[in-house]
Amino acid sequence: MDRHIAIPATGQDGAAVEPDAVRQDWTRAEVRALFELPFPDLIYRAQRVHRAHFDPCQVQISTLLSIKTGGCPEDCGYCPQSAHYEAGVKAEKLMDAAAVVGEARAAKQAGASRFCMGAAWRSPKDRDLDAVCAMVAAVKALGLETCATLGMLTGPQALRLKGAGLDYYNHNLDTSPEYYGEIITTRTFRDRLETLDHVRTAGISVCCGGIVGMGESREDRVGMIVALATLPVHPESVPINMLVQVEGTPLATGQAFDAIEFVRTVAAARITMPASVVRLSAGREDMSEETQALCFVAGANSIFYGPKLLTTPNPARDRDRDLMDKLGLVPMS
Ligand code: SF4
Repeated sequence: MDRHIAIPATGQDGAAVEPDAVRQDWTRAEVRALFELPFPDLIYRAQRVHRAHFDPCQVQISTLLSIKTGGCPEDCGYCPQSAHYEAGVKAEKLMDAAAVVGEARAAKQAGASRFCMGAAWRSPKDRDLDAVCAMVAAVKALGLETCATLGMLTGPQALRLKGAGLDYYNHNLDTSPEYYGEIITTRTFRDRLETLDHVRTAGISVCCGGIVGMGESREDRVGMIVALATLPVHPESVPINMLVQVEGTPLATGQAFDAIEFVRTVAAARITMPASVVRLSAGREDMSEETQALCFVAGANSIFYGPKLLTTPNPARDRDRDLMDKLGLVPMS
């Protein structure tokens, strides 16, 4: 018997649904059941969904630059850039636009199709936004897709960024609504949803995912995937991060996260958000080639490329190129 017959996809009312259909009505029970599937069945289902929407050998490549590092007033427990912790990250001023454009040009030459600019702010001040809008326009003029992550935005701020040519805005939900308060106390899950709504309304594509390995339960990972997969429109990009434990932050001392559970989370994101690009983000530096390969098989189809992810290390470009060659993967055109 074809084993996929034994793992039908069913919707809220229990009726069979196309396994690769884009739906926003995922329930906790359904997503929990995905996490509980035998690993071969989970991977098989993720592959079917992946192949229905993407070429499984293509990987989208983004580069991330910290344009304003450190001194952030937020208290995200995983983040060395928070001013609440002594993690050895020095607060810096907003980078000069010409330097940002130089980095973007180098990223393009190295094969990136999207350039993300990250600033450690709770939310941008209007004069900061003027500078970022100028950067966005200049990076866009190089022929790159543009992405920014600047903290919470108002509706008018999102519209200004759209007007400057911003293609994507990154704003992660981080974890489940229930666990959110354990990780961040200076803003709420609802604040995140509000900014996502402003970004969507402005016509900017959404990059939104989360982090695993922060001491959350599997039920929290289920809750995070449900929160993402039931947004009114699925994020176009879904970064799934593995916690990078940085000394000086409150989450520096937990146990290393189980790689298979990480792959399961990637597969659950792929299955529930079939048409979204699922990105392997933070944590790749500490991941074996085998784990990364399993993530690609589970439906991940994007990586950040370059030696640094904001302030934490990322595999060197040559190592990424070697791994992609070994696996027969090519940059997404
Ligand atoms: S994750 Fe972002 S918002 Fe949170 S402390 Fe770090 S820079 Fe600030």
